[in-house]
Amino acid sequence: AKEQGRNNYQFYTPTVHTKGIKRLQMETMLRHALERNELVVYYQPRLDARTGKLVCVEALVRWKHPQLGMIPPDDFIPLAEDTGLITRIGETVLKQACRQRQLWNRQGVPPFRVSVNLSPRQFRQMDLPEVIHNILADTGLAPEYLELEITESAAMQDVNYAILMLKVLKEMGMTIAIDDFGTGYSSLSYLKRFPIDVIKVDQSFIRGIKDDSEDAAIVQAIIVLAHSLNLDVTAEGVETSEQLEFLKNQQCNEIQGYLIGKPMSAETLRDWIVLENT
Ligand code: C2E
Ligand code: CA
Ligand code: CA
Ligand code: CA
Repeated sequence: AKEQGRNNYQFYTPTVHTKGIKRLQMETMLRHALERNELVVYYQPRLDARTGKLVCVEALVRWKHPQLGMIPPDDFIPLAEDTGLITRIGETVLKQACRQRQLWNRQGVPPFRVSVNLSPRQFRQMDLPEVIHNILADTGLAPEYLELEITESAAMQDVNYAILMLKVLKEMGMTIAIDDFGTGYSSLSYLKRFPIDVIKVDQSFIRGIKDDSEDAAIVQAIIVLAHSLNLDVTAEGVETSEQLEFLKNQQCNEIQGYLIGKPMSAETLRDWIVLENT
């Protein structure tokens, strides 16, 4: 065992090297994916908890690789964030989502919003309002149809910057949601200062509602707090009818999760809407 211990670093070095190569390969592949339009956007429904009405769909990117099949965002978004490719990916998603919503408008699909995730790096980009303005102008979409999701931790990185940036975006007419809420340790006084509309309670808390009384208490407290600040609460990752019942009893406003519907292609979503309404 001691011998092995001494040699450890020899194994370690090539592994790090391989990892570097893999990263480079992945980055090159991702650049190609952008050029070949292999990134597609899926949409997950979010319902009003009381009425069951479809209020919003979340745009979630997928990489349709011709050989490897569907690659989930967790496998390439972090790398894209590190390398800066996220800026282009983010724009592609925004464009696709706005174009799709505008297409739905022409097809007479009900006027629910589309929410798009902004990465921390995208959010730090000073020209973000201009980028979004141009996409809205190009697609002809009214800003009221667009919601922007920024994680609690990204908002907390630089609170004063976040307040200013969110103000600009909100004044443009978009809705603002704080994503993965409860994981970013924001203090309540900041929450009051953020010009936001929606809080999305992180799915880790929803998962624990039934078996973990602390999680249930946290969710309950977040809902009360959000309502006292006139914010809507969305629960993400709702998978069971027990969770749904609890959330309804706590006056949670909106629900999203596999119990309602998984992320799906734009075409599948249209069929899903028709089915839900019959
Ligand atoms: P997120 O923004 O928190 O998105 C919610 C994730 O939870 C999605 O995973 C969704 O498919 C999954 N989910 C929804 N309901 C349930 C449920 O009931 N149970 C479980 N177990 N999972 C559920 P997805 O699509 O794999 O995305 C993962 C993350 O990747 C997202 O987390 C987001 O951080 C990031 N992401 C996805 N698309 C984009 C994008 O266009 N831009 C950026 N910057 N990030 C993105
Ligand atoms: Ca999100
Ligand atoms: Ca989330
Ligand atoms: Ca998450």
